Amino acid sequence: MADAKKYPTPVTNPETAHFWEATKQGKLLFKRCKACGEPHYFPRSICPFCFSDKTEWEESSGEATIYTFSLMRKSANGPFAIAYVTLKEGPSLQTNIVDCDIDKLKIGQKVKVVFKPTDGAPLPFFTPA
Ligand SMILES: [Zn+2]
Repeated sequence: MADAKKYPTPVTNPETAHFWEATKQGKLLFKRCKACGEPHYFPRSICPFCFSDKTEWEESSGEATIYTFSLMRKSANGPFAIAYVTLKEGPSLQTNIVDCDIDKLKIGQKVKVVFKPTDGAPLPFFTPA
């Protein structure tokens, strides 16, 4: 079912190009500030905590836990789960939980990143670990 879905092609720009290149190699990147040490997602050139421009790319383990989620039972593309997951490295991100029985999802559940093809760079989603 999930494989039949058509996912939208991500729009890239110079600030996010490196991130999308990494997804083509199955890597999920985030950024960490060299000034204050805080990790953040989505990746930005300027640290959202201290506004330093000394941010560096890091590769995530892809391991995360579900912080919260919501189920959309009726949509043109069928039921789906939208969620915030917290990466093992710290940042939380909004995503979809895919390739699973959405009625069995639980807050605090372990999930891992999975990439879905588009006409451009693959999109990162999460699935139960
Ligand atoms: Zn900072």
